[in-house]
Amino acid sequence: MEHELLIPVQGTKERIVIIGGGFGGLRLAEDLDMNQYQVVLIDKNNYHQFQPLFYQVATSGLESSDISFPFRKIFQKKTDFHFRLCEAQSIDSSNKILNTSAGKLHFDYLVIATGCTTNFFGHNEYNDFVYTLKSTSESLQLRNQILQSLEDTLNKEVPGFSSELNYVIVGAGATGVELAGALGEMRRFVFPKDYPDMDLSIMNIILIDAAPRILMNLGEEDGLKAQSYLQKLGVKIITEVSVTSCDPEKVILSDGQTIYTNNIFWVAGVTGNKIDGLSNCEWGKGNRIVTNQGLKVSGTDSIFAIGDIGLQTEVEKGRGYPQVAQVAIQQAKYLARKFNRKELNSSDKFVYKDLGTMATVGRNVAIAHVGKYKFYGAFAWFMWCFVHLRSIMGVKNKIFIFINWVWNYFTYNLSLRLIIKPNPSKKKTGATGQK
Ligand SMILES: Cc1cc2nc3c(=O)[nH]c(=O)nc-3n(C[C@H](O)[C@H](O)[C@H](O)COP(=O)(O)OP(=O)(O)OC[C@H]3O[C@@H](n4cnc5c(N)ncnc54)[C@H](O)[C@@H]3O)c2cc1C
Repeated sequence: MEHELLIPVQGTKERIVIIGGGFGGLRLAEDLDMNQYQVVLIDKNNYHQFQPLFYQVATSGLESSDISFPFRKIFQKKTDFHFRLCEAQSIDSSNKILNTSAGKLHFDYLVIATGCTTNFFGHNEYNDFVYTLKSTSESLQLRNQILQSLEDTLNKEVPGFSSELNYVIVGAGATGVELAGALGEMRRFVFPKDYPDMDLSIMNIILIDAAPRILMNLGEEDGLKAQSYLQKLGVKIITEVSVTSCDPEKVILSDGQTIYTNNIFWVAGVTGNKIDGLSNCEWGKGNRIVTNQGLKVSGTDSIFAIGDIGLQTEVEKGRGYPQVAQVAIQQAKYLARKFNRKELNSSDKFVYKDLGTMATVGRNVAIAHVGKYKFYGAFAWFMWCFVHLRSIMGVKNKIFIFINWVWNYFTYNLSLRLIIKPNPSKKKTGATGQK
């Protein structure tokens, strides 16, 4: 698009454009001093998404609106803040222009906070039929698919084995484990009541990973504890085996097995949401933009990258900090402070303070590492609930989620198991793709 996005100019303030209102971009926009800068936030969705709870939306534990927060509401009271719903497409760094699906935008400073998308490891064609979990809309698609498979099985002429009831989760990191645990609990506690005329022993939940064990980001003991709980729930775990190929009807594994399924849930890895045009900068592993220790993009003087998309190669033996919410939030706070104090050229460095790692496997079962302490079971699970509730935006959402969790804890009977599909006859309008 050739035209310039119309943003009212107030005085001679410099303009900071932030691409992406995820954990990093949102926090940065909140912390920047709008008396000093005009702030423009660009996102392809009109809401912030709380990704750690996507799996709960997918497994009917929470409403999508509990974990998605409209930007315009968040910033209602801010002056000289502007949100534009569009997709950032390319950056012309020498002329300081961001090209978006809705028009051009001039910036004085640009902060890239576009996060990551699903990594298909060179097989992008899988995206046409596997289910992923990188956005609220994908969580809803996954929820639809889980429930639709059960309905389709019941509607079959001949009951019995059905590939529709093979749920294959590819990737046994935290998300894969959470999804497998929640599905296993649904099969044990919820589906027998919802589908009394169905033989649920034919429903298989299969968790696959190429690594030697599940939860490789945590310790061996943690992985074994999670594995034991999942196995008690009847989840089949296949490790040290990778997916050789898959199509809409089956998955073929490196050990020669073929699993017939319509439900491939792909949570095997992430890759950066790349934007074209940064020809002078360096790209690291996983499509991450290399920055210096002050988060400035290599080869530029007014462009920064924070969160999952950024890579500080000078730390963690070149691997950079982990792609987790706390890194994005702490980097955003650090950068806002630098902007507000006009210290952009100072040589100080961003250093990540690790507040701990957590993973939940099921109701009453979680793993929490805080400093040198490790917690397991119910206590860790309550810690997990507390930490996530605290991070959720807005009092109303905290209360809703808390009530849902308590209700679900005692009854396993939330009424969110709805198959809500978009009307396929309506064509999408506007400049953005909703993913
Ligand atoms: C299922 C799941 C579970 C997770 N669980 C945890 C957890 O328990 N704990 C934890 O710490 N971390 C967890 N993470 C990781 C955590 O969510 C990320 O590290 C964090 O979101 C990174 O923040 P970010 O700001 O870099 O990017 P994101 O939060 O991903 O935000 C990126 C934003 O950029 C927008 N965007 C992308 N490209 C464009 C474009 N071209 N134009 C306009 N807008 C664009 C997106 O719409 C999005 O709003 C999880 C991630 C997933 C997917």
